[in-house]
Amino acid sequence: MVAEKGTDHTNQEQEYDVLKSTQTVIHKALDKLGYPEEVYELLKEPLRLLTVKIPVRMDDGSVKIFTGYRAQHNDAVGPTKGGIRFHPDVTEKEVKALSIWMSLKCGIVDLPYGGGKGGIVCDPRNMSFRELERLSRGYVRAISQIVGPTKDIPAPDVFTNSQIMAWMMDEYSRMDEFNSPGFITGKPLVLGGSHGRDSATAKGVTIVIHEAAKKRDIDVKGARVVVQGFGNAGSYLAKFMHDAGAKVVGISDAYGALYDQDGLDIDYLLDRRDSFGTVTKLFKNTITNKELLELECDILVPAAIENQITEDNAHNIQAKIVVEAANGPTTMEATQILTDRGILLVPDVLASSGGVTVSYFEWVQNNQGYYWSEEEVEEKLEKILIKAFNNIYDTAQTRRVDMRLAAYMVGVRKMAEASRFRGWI
Ligand code: GLU
Repeated sequence: MVAEKGTDHTNQEQEYDVLKSTQTVIHKALDKLGYPEEVYELLKEPLRLLTVKIPVRMDDGSVKIFTGYRAQHNDAVGPTKGGIRFHPDVTEKEVKALSIWMSLKCGIVDLPYGGGKGGIVCDPRNMSFRELERLSRGYVRAISQIVGPTKDIPAPDVFTNSQIMAWMMDEYSRMDEFNSPGFITGKPLVLGGSHGRDSATAKGVTIVIHEAAKKRDIDVKGARVVVQGFGNAGSYLAKFMHDAGAKVVGISDAYGALYDQDGLDIDYLLDRRDSFGTVTKLFKNTITNKELLELECDILVPAAIENQITEDNAHNIQAKIVVEAANGPTTMEATQILTDRGILLVPDVLASSGGVTVSYFEWVQNNQGYYWSEEEVEEKLEKILIKAFNNIYDTAQTRRVDMRLAAYMVGVRKMAEASRFRGWI
């Protein structure tokens, strides 16, 4: 099994900050755009949040009750869209923040969606295949009333993958009494998945890295790249960077990091990684994740979890460009420090929007019953992300704001306008 992305997680206290800091930036963005306070009141929290209890028969015969969430941030633009995370540290507040980020991503790449997000408090690393299937099906039954191909369309996220999407699609289709591939994205190809969805987040990150590198006169060929996290986004990205001629000098997982200034053998590491992105356990000479982030390099890509670059280490970051492939890896204070130091920060809501973009392609293909080639997917993705990057870069320049605020300004505008036209505000 290949998990969507991420290798470790955050704690309750940090997660609270994630929601708060997102709200602060949303507020600033709306202020800059001249929207009145009630727009912020509408957008600072999801419109809906469902909490469910999911009883699961475990392999030993016992029954375990799991807690799950589904947040729907704003559906003024269209149905809500976003992944489902399986992780022991999932909390209500985190799911809320993640749903807001999904709204921003959809706004940035101009998809006809609002943001949603789901999560189950569980540790898939300690569950069997069949237990995971029962949990996945139970979750879909529990949230079935508020989701659907025209209401809210889930997808993979941390520690969920195409197999889990397949079970969920099957469960929904049984309840719906129709084959409903458009209920969920990130499915296996044979069940209506899209070419390129598995690697879409990393492809998107690669595209914005090329654009960012142009702005800083860095040749990607030969550039030194550090990637934190070896999950779905991190591992594919390391591969794409390696294939583009960059030198991937550092990678990490939840247990440690590897470093080689001449460039790591990415193909070998990919071969040895397990389904949760763990690879460093096989090596003796590892460095810490903290040391990894501070390595000398041109491009640093946090592709794991929240709150990795903070005011404690932002001064020590040596990269010229930081591209956030993970959701929320840099705190607000650290964003300021990096920007003041002249480091080009490509924010998460832009850099990681390739995943949901190809999810949108998948949903369109499902609705039409007409399927595209890998080349078509890649070409369309590239066009959308190059446009989104330059739109945000130009907004940052002309409005004299940092890249994150610029991304929020671009991301929030359509949602606010749609809410206004609908007469909600
Ligand atoms: N989980 C991914 C994200 O955070 C993808 C969501 C989707 O494809 O709907 O962007």
